[in-house]
Amino acid sequence: MKDSKTDTLIVIGAGITGLMTAINAKLSGLEVYLLEKGNKPSGSSVRIAGVLHSGARFAGSDNDLAKVCFEEWKWWISVLSKDKRKVGGYFIKLKNEPTEYLESWLNSLKSIGIPFSEIDSPELGKEINANNIDKYYFVPEIQINASFFTNELVKVAETLGINYLPLSSIQKAEINEDEYEVTINVGNQVKMIKGFPIITSGIDIPEVAKKFGVNLEYSIYQGSHILINTNINELLEFVHKPGTYDLLIPSESGAYITPTLVPYNRLIITEEELESISSALKNIFINKPEVIGYMTAGRISINSPKSVLKGDYIANLNNLIIAWSNNYACSRRVSYYIAEILGIKKVLTPKAFNFS
Ligand SMILES: Cc1cc2nc3c(=O)[nH]c(=O)nc-3n(C[C@H](O)[C@H](O)[C@H](O)COP(=O)(O)OP(=O)(O)OC[C@H]3O[C@@H](n4cnc5c(N)ncnc54)[C@H](O)[C@@H]3O)c2cc1C
Repeated sequence: MKDSKTDTLIVIGAGITGLMTAINAKLSGLEVYLLEKGNKPSGSSVRIAGVLHSGARFAGSDNDLAKVCFEEWKWWISVLSKDKRKVGGYFIKLKNEPTEYLESWLNSLKSIGIPFSEIDSPELGKEINANNIDKYYFVPEIQINASFFTNELVKVAETLGINYLPLSSIQKAEINEDEYEVTINVGNQVKMIKGFPIITSGIDIPEVAKKFGVNLEYSIYQGSHILINTNINELLEFVHKPGTYDLLIPSESGAYITPTLVPYNRLIITEEELESISSALKNIFINKPEVIGYMTAGRISINSPKSVLKGDYIANLNNLIIAWSNNYACSRRVSYYIAEILGIKKVLTPKAFNFS
C-alpha cells in the first residue's frame, strides 16, 4: 500500500466498528492487528436486539439520520443473505393518537424513498389488541442476531488473516517518527506492535485514548432493552409524536422494548417507570405484559475533539483515529470514512464476507 498512511493498523476494540474497519483494511492489503480486552467482543454490539434501521424510525423527527440509515439499510440488504437476517416491521397508529405526526412521517418516508405500504390486518400475534389500532404500515426493517453476527465476523476476520488478539490490554503506547509503538499484554505474553492505531473501544474509548496521550470531553449513557413476556411475530413500532416513540422487537423469550418512555441514561429502572411502561403497553396488548428482564448497553457522546463525520464519531488526529458508530448499521459507513482518511480501498462486498 504505497500511497496509504501506513502498512499496519492496530485496531483496539472488536465491536462492530473495529471489526468492519479491520476487515476492510485487511482486504485492502494492510497488515491488521485487532485487539479485544475480553475473550470475545463484549461491548454494545453484542448487547442489542439488532435492528438495522431502514430509517423509518427516525423519519419525521430526524430526517438526516433517516437518510443515512436508509443508505446503510440498502447496503446490508445487498450483503446479508436471507438466513442471516429477518426483514419485517409494522408501524402502527393507535385510534386515540393525533394524525399530525403520522402525516409528517409518511411525507418523510416518501421524500427519502424508504419503502412502506399500508396494510389491513397483519399477523402480529394473538396478544395484540387490534380494536385499538387505527392504521398499520409495513416497513422492511432488518433484524439480525447482533451477538451471533458480531462473533461470526470475528471468525471472518481470523479467516482473512487478521491478527486477532483477545484478552489483550495495552501497557503503553509511544510515538516514534509518526508511528506508534504499542506494548500489549496478551494473556501471559508481552508483545510490541508498530503501526497506526484506530481506537474503537466503545464506551472505553476515553480510557484507551488516555494511553495515547489524548484526553477527551465526553458523556456516557446507558440504555436498556426491556424484555416483556408477550409474543409478537414481527417488529412493531408505534407511530407516536416524536419523543414518545417506542420499538418492540421479537425475541425467543418474549419481546424487547427499547423505551423512550424512561430516561435513557442509567441502568436501574424504577418500579414506577416499569409500571408506566406496562400501562403504556396496555393499549396495544390484550393482557398487560410484565417486564421480565433487561439487556443494557452503552453509548458514548464525544464533544472534543470534534468529529469529521456528522452522526457517527470519527476524530482524525493525524497519527491516530478514534471512531464510534452511532448505530450498528452505520459501521460500514464509518469503516469507509476511515479508509478515505488512510488512503486505502473500500471493499466490503458480499464476496469479501462470503455471506451469500
Ligand atoms: C440500549 C441500546 C440499544 C441499541 N440498539 C441498537 C439497535 O437496535 N440497532 C443498532 O443499529 N444500534 C443499536 N444501538 C447502538 C449500537 O449498539 C452501537 O452503535 C454499536 O454497537 C457500537 O459499536 P462499537 O463497535 O463502536 O462499540 P462496542 O460494541 O461497544 O465495541 C467496543 C469493543 O471494544 C472492547 N474494548 C473496550 N476496551 C478495550 C481495551 N482497553 N482494549 C481492547 N478492547 C477493548 C470492548 O470489549 C468491545 O468489544 C444501541 C445502543 C444502545 C445503548
